[in-house]
Amino acid sequence: MAKFKRILLKLSGESLMGEQGYGIDVKRLNDYATQIKEANDSGVQIAIVIGGGNIFRGLSGAGKGFDRVKGDQMGMCATVINSLALSSALGAVGVKSHVLTAIHMEPIGEFYNKWKAIEYLEKGEVVIFSCGTGSPYFTTDTGSSLRGIEIEADIMLKGTRVNGIYTADPEKDKTATKFDDITYDEIYTRGLKVMDLTATTMCKENNLPIYVFNMDVYGNLKKVLAGEPIGTYVHN
Ligand code: UDP
Repeated sequence: MAKFKRILLKLSGESLMGEQGYGIDVKRLNDYATQIKEANDSGVQIAIVIGGGNIFRGLSGAGKGFDRVKGDQMGMCATVINSLALSSALGAVGVKSHVLTAIHMEPIGEFYNKWKAIEYLEKGEVVIFSCGTGSPYFTTDTGSSLRGIEIEADIMLKGTRVNGIYTADPEKDKTATKFDDITYDEIYTRGLKVMDLTATTMCKENNLPIYVFNMDVYGNLKKVLAGEPIGTYVHN
């Protein structure tokens, strides 16, 4: 893989809870911050979207009787909590970062604006986009696709808890094999659950490649940026 000038790093909220069943695991948070610092020091421009699944998901809330829109708004607030935690952890390791929100909530974060974000990135500062798209019925994967496309990122690096995309769930099917690369079309035809379809389609239609890798193994972000084939490359 080519070296990247600007990346959109998607971190899952669920991974942030580490070994705990809920909330934010400080060790995992600090591991992320240190890896991001290392990447930032290497000169790559880093924009981040972090999910909220460690705190609240609108869809599971709806299953328990919550109003879906209010549940999704709670989910978006959860992404703000995670973004603030990450921004704080980055500050502690000496990396300047800005939390940009898709919903007005100053002074917690600055209201999102593409050109402001690029201005920060070009200064070598990290930007964290929170609230996903700002609208219910979407996910932070779609928020990442949208922001990645808007800021003209070279790639979306999707940090997950598995090391790439497999033909089937490797925990359930011992014959499952991993793809080194795969097209968007093959994801549809094989019915693979990489991201939700809205997010996948946005990336396909706007030609934003994705690299799926295991972000929970310390040092993997550096390997991906160095071009080591440790995950799955998704492309048109
Ligand atoms: N959410 C939303 N609109 C968005 C992004 C997120 O309503 O554009 C809500 C939705 O309820 C979602 C929750 O925020 O369940 C947390 O995001 P997500 O599930 O994507 O987090 P992750 O799975 O990455 O931890």
